[in-house]
Amino acid sequence: MQRILNFVNGEPRPAISGGTLEVHEPAVGRAYALAPDSDARDLDSAIVAAEQAFPAWSRSGAESRSNHLLAIAAAIESRMEEFARAESIDTGKPIALARTMDIPRSVRNFRFFATAVLHERNDAHVTNHAALNYTLRRPRGVVGLISPWNLPLYLLSWKIAPALAVGNTAVAKPSEIAPMTAHLLADVCRQTGLPPGVLNVVHGLGPKVGGPIASDPRLGTISFTGGTVTGRSIALAAAPHFKKLALEMGGKNATVVFADADFEQAVSESVRAAFANQGQVCLCGSRVLVEKSIYAQFTDAFVQRTRALRIGDPLDEATTQGALSSQAHLDKVKRYVALARAEGGRIICGDDPIVLPERCRNGWFHPPTVIVGLDPHCGVNQEEIFGPVVTLSPFSNDAEAVSLANSTIYGLSASLWTRDLNRALRVSEQLDVGTVWVNCWLLRDLRVPFGGTKQSGLGREGGEEALHFFTEPKNVCVRTTA
Ligand code: NAD
Repeated sequence: MQRILNFVNGEPRPAISGGTLEVHEPAVGRAYALAPDSDARDLDSAIVAAEQAFPAWSRSGAESRSNHLLAIAAAIESRMEEFARAESIDTGKPIALARTMDIPRSVRNFRFFATAVLHERNDAHVTNHAALNYTLRRPRGVVGLISPWNLPLYLLSWKIAPALAVGNTAVAKPSEIAPMTAHLLADVCRQTGLPPGVLNVVHGLGPKVGGPIASDPRLGTISFTGGTVTGRSIALAAAPHFKKLALEMGGKNATVVFADADFEQAVSESVRAAFANQGQVCLCGSRVLVEKSIYAQFTDAFVQRTRALRIGDPLDEATTQGALSSQAHLDKVKRYVALARAEGGRIICGDDPIVLPERCRNGWFHPPTVIVGLDPHCGVNQEEIFGPVVTLSPFSNDAEAVSLANSTIYGLSASLWTRDLNRALRVSEQLDVGTVWVNCWLLRDLRVPFGGTKQSGLGREGGEEALHFFTEPKNVCVRTTA
């Protein structure tokens, strides 16, 4: 069994209670590591360390902090294969995906914010020739960062990098389901000489560590990514303290395909959007809405393409579909497929048994599944499944497409496929989501605002939004005339 440890005040530490949690390799369905089963005492020592580190770190200057973050980026990059393999084993995702997406993007997150703070400008407003107002931005202090299991290092570093770059110190709580790369990151922080206490990592269960992060009055800023139900409980716990919150939560994103789209591209990208990381990306397009005139042809092509995906051992280079993160998650996905049948849906792909290598015989695999014939307002079309399950539904015109796309409680993202620029602009404006992709999916620029509307989120991450979230603006008004 490998050992994962907390990282407090620059040192690896077990949980104070001595308790551990099993960490599983989803592809084989067995525990392979033990992580600390931390509680409020571990959190307290992490907060104390972060408070002690804050004055020096926040005063150290952007250039010095930038150099620390650039060193972390370079160290992760130099250990790319080790990190990619660890992420693949821990989550069940194909190693090729971890190597091309998760870990390179984590490196970019550190580089992006390390350099962004070198280019910051302060606002100034001249008031009727009588005063000069200027805005100072100071770090918020010790911030709490809580992240999910689907893109473990990618999403954790997306929070850590901006928080530290602007001068905060942090207590991070990775998902207990996929904690390994956060453990490796702690090692990188030691190796690169990040001052003790600047970043602290406390592993453990949501209610035992995440809950106290949400309610602890010393953590006035919380950035959370995870499910909507968890986000709501964090908002409730944080409310009495008026904490500053960024909540990035669930989605039920629509892929909208118009008859005039580039057919081949729309098929291949909507399959990718449906099944990337086994459908476990918050931005996955799990409802594909297709204009009636091409619905039958599109459905056939979509199924054919889905059948070509290769389910297998995540450590096999050729695998495109790995395992689901946990037994509980696999059970949830199966429950939704059963619900789809009960709601009158037809499973047109995903019913055949999967053939897996011996090593993966007891792994948590689910075939990419395509369902048709469901009412757009049924449970399967309204609730987040977060797995390799997609529904296809026809629509008649633009207005119906928009109304169906907007029909859930979520509003994270959508993708549109059309060659008609005017339609693309019009429909994009009408969609109630945080991100619209036109003729693309998951094409990310780290400068753009990222987040969701309705129950998908509160606040935005990315670029300046993140730098602003992690700082407190203060206006100074200087009278310039007697
Ligand atoms: P989750 O909400 O179960 O857990 C997320 C994190 O919150 C984990 O670290 C967990 O331990 C912690 N947590 C659990 N209970 C808590 C509590 N009571 N108080 C504080 N923290 C608690 O989510 P998950 O299953 O890990 O991830 C899947 C979800 O994340 C999906 O809903 C997905 O859409 C969402 N997600 C959203 C985005 C986005 O950017 N909007 C990105 C990735 C994933």
